[in-house]
Amino acid sequence: MKPPAVKYARAGDVQEAVALLREHGADAKVLAGGQSLVPLMSFRLARPSILIDINRVGELDYIREDNGSLLIGAMTRQRDVEISRTVADAVPLLPQALHHVGHVTNRNRGTIGGSLAHADPASELPALVTGLAGELVVEGPKGSRTIVAEDFFVGTFTTAMEPDEVLAAVRLPRLPAGTGVAVEELARRHGDFAIVAAMAAVHLGSDGSVDLVRLAASGVDSVPVRLHAAEAVLAGAQPTAEVIDAAAATVADSINPTGDVHAPASYRRDMARLLVKRAVAAAVERSGVQA
Ligand SMILES: Cc1cc2nc3c(=O)[nH]c(=O)nc-3n(C[C@H](O)[C@H](O)[C@H](O)COP(=O)(O)OP(=O)(O)OC[C@H]3O[C@@H](n4cnc5c(N)ncnc54)[C@H](O)[C@@H]3O)c2cc1C
Repeated sequence: MKPPAVKYARAGDVQEAVALLREHGADAKVLAGGQSLVPLMSFRLARPSILIDINRVGELDYIREDNGSLLIGAMTRQRDVEISRTVADAVPLLPQALHHVGHVTNRNRGTIGGSLAHADPASELPALVTGLAGELVVEGPKGSRTIVAEDFFVGTFTTAMEPDEVLAAVRLPRLPAGTGVAVEELARRHGDFAIVAAMAAVHLGSDGSVDLVRLAASGVDSVPVRLHAAEAVLAGAQPTAEVIDAAAATVADSINPTGDVHAPASYRRDMARLLVKRAVAAAVERSGVQA
């Protein structure tokens, strides 16, 4: 199917994009990489009155280290982030997660901001940003505001952004050197959306105990979920198999999956526990103890 005819405007900068959104109202949609929006339009699941194309807004295309954090502009292509040495060094979980997002051709066009603004609870990037306590920088008619990830994702395909706001950037805290990271997914085929995914970042202190742990899951609720209870079990503990089991056992109470054609809710719940256990064990295995 082809998308229906739609009005089109191209923004030259962020302010122009905001002004166009304001002018055209809630039925206008930002067009970034088009990898989610265009298929939705083709299936008539999205019927925007006008597309505001931000592909020429070069000021939103950057990867930067900034005061102990990694700042990525919303229009940065997913593939550019996946292969960036700066990203691999600061937040090594990010390239690993991106490797699971669709196929290289999708990631060549798809943007970091598009994936986050789309807010699919099955997506990897919203879960990663939630798990790492990232922040979303949003530009609107009243200027810029910053929203923490757990407040940004408010429901399936729904964020805390106003219709006349543009997602400008995401900020992620740098992970300490030696942090082990892992992404574990259950998907029917590589490149498909995961049925359930779990992500872990673990740093061990000089005595081998966990001094930093960040855990998240996708496909298990209407929003991406940071697994606070499991993190609390691991924090400060020696990451033995028993402790990792105990952390994974908390997952079922932290999530609220629904069933669909791919898997019933009970299966997603069981898989989330298993994938968290595997992700934590792999992250511990990969972490380098800091003297
Ligand atoms: C075959 C295929 C497989 C895929 N598999 C996966 C997968 O496994 N995991 C996964 O996470 N994703 C997957 N995707 C989706 C992909 O990651 C998309 O790139 C992403 O969801 C949307 O990014 P985009 O830049 O293409 O945004 P678009 O499709 O252009 O936009 C998506 C939505 O976000 C809004 N938007 C975009 N940018 C902004 C902005 N800066 N400010 C405000 N609103 C904005 C748009 O208005 C629209 O509502 C897949 C896509 C395809 C086609």
